[in-house]
Amino acid sequence: MISRRKFIKTTLAASAVPAAWVKAGPRGISRSTGEPVVISTWSFGVEANRAAMKVLERGDSALDAVEAGVMVPEGDPEMGGVGYGGLPDEDGHVTLDSCIMDSSGNAGSVAFLQNIKHPISVARKVMERSDHVMLVGEGAKRFALIHGFKEDNLLTDKAREGWLKWKEGLNDKDNWGPNEDHDTISLLTQDEKGNLAGACTTSGLAFKIHGRIGDSPIIGAGMYCDNDIGAAGATGRGEAVIKTVGSFLVVELMRQGYEPQEACKKALQRIMGKHNGNPSFQVAYIALRKDGVTGAAAIKDGFQYALYQSGKNKLHDVKGLT
Ligand code: ASP
Repeated sequence: MISRRKFIKTTLAASAVPAAWVKAGPRGISRSTGEPVVISTWSFGVEANRAAMKVLERGDSALDAVEAGVMVPEGDPEMGGVGYGGLPDEDGHVTLDSCIMDSSGNAGSVAFLQNIKHPISVARKVMERSDHVMLVGEGAKRFALIHGFKEDNLLTDKAREGWLKWKEGLNDKDNWGPNEDHDTISLLTQDEKGNLAGACTTSGLAFKIHGRIGDSPIIGAGMYCDNDIGAAGATGRGEAVIKTVGSFLVVELMRQGYEPQEACKKALQRIMGKHNGNPSFQVAYIALRKDGVTGAAAIKDGFQYALYQSGKNKLHDVKGLT
């Protein structure tokens, strides 16, 4: 007969629920609220959340919802940091990075993709119609075209003007240093079945070196989703997020029992510790735990996230840690 101690040990290991949650009592081990939740980065997240919640309310999956949500800023020509209308690289090319993950741990991603308006949908196709996780550049575009995506010119007049102004203002001290205009969308959802999904999509840092890829298409950096624990997403200086595998770290901290808010903070402190406690750049994380509890944190003031929960879709200001 299996001993009680062995039973508890094996049950805990199999369920992957952190021991700290078990200790925390009923709320700590609740696996799902049954109520849909959407959380996303920045003020344009409000509109994205609305689109995602519509999908969840008709009973569709968290995966369908994250895709529908981030397609809103991707398709908006006024949005300088995502998809169509995104600011170009130093050579005037709009290059897009996106990734998506579902509740079964499947992942798809595209990077350095040009002339395709909805990179998130290409990332989803990579996940669903290939045996790969990540496609880049010309190969990603070819894959998109054979799956019926259309080529578009993504450089709007407004973005081209911004690029020309940047070029005209260049001087001998310019060295592709931090550009603090961040506006990547990371969006995480939980559907009524309690399943989680995440998406992250961006045109990356404005005026970056041609060929630069940020954190946003990198699974575990720009976004990560583990249906047993929670999901996390990033915005801000991608290089710092990549070097600390930020979103994966946030999820792993939640697995260890940290509250979503604390997990976001601790992951940022990892970055801050490598920059004398006060980096010159912004990074922010959002997190959604399996029980529907959310969190967010940022290195600097100015970060906002949008949360749609219990029938309310609200924008929240986050006070920076530095
Ligand atoms: N994380 C994005 C990148 O580094 C930038 C951003 O969030 O604005 O490409």
